[in-house]
Amino acid sequence: MRYQYIFKYYEKFRQIGNELFHAGLNNFHSGNLSVREDQDVLITATGSKLGFLEKEDLVRVDLNGEEIGRASCEVSVHRAIYKETGVNAIVHAHAPYSVVLSFDNDHFMPMDGEGKVYFPNGVKIVHVRQSVASEEVALEIPNVLKKDKAVIVAGHGIFAVGDDLIEAAKWISSIENSAHLVYLHRCMKGVVK
Ligand SMILES: [Zn+2]
Repeated sequence: MRYQYIFKYYEKFRQIGNELFHAGLNNFHSGNLSVREDQDVLITATGSKLGFLEKEDLVRVDLNGEEIGRASCEVSVHRAIYKETGVNAIVHAHAPYSVVLSFDNDHFMPMDGEGKVYFPNGVKIVHVRQSVASEEVALEIPNVLKKDKAVIVAGHGIFAVGDDLIEAAKWISSIENSAHLVYLHRCMKGVVK
């Protein structure tokens, strides 16, 4: 079963992980990717380098299980999202401009045309005490992702969902592009806040 999933999904994981890293949306070891098929979740391993994924970096876990094994430390968040939503894929990235704008805000509203089309109501920013491998995040963000395509965990990164990895990665890329533009606009105005 495990090899069947790896055979099916490895190339897509490798491509998306590589794109996220080279676009500066993740650092060397940050971020994680997963897909769901029925009761199975295929997720990147803890400590894996998303820009250089090997087949051994993909780990299958049961959706309703508690076993973690070598899975990403965010596997509990991924499981919680899948249980509460109908999505098939999750992408998490430490997109820097989105993170820097998250420190002092609880909502991000794009200013550019594309961002407004994709996120007409903006993107919610969730503040928690512990933002990494966090039970609070696993409790808070599935509710948001029932209706939104993405959410920013303050001081940490973006979790985005979709029918597949490409769609989820698209939301991450769009939010970060919008955040970069807002940041540049504020710099230009001399208001970096
Ligand atoms: Zn993270």
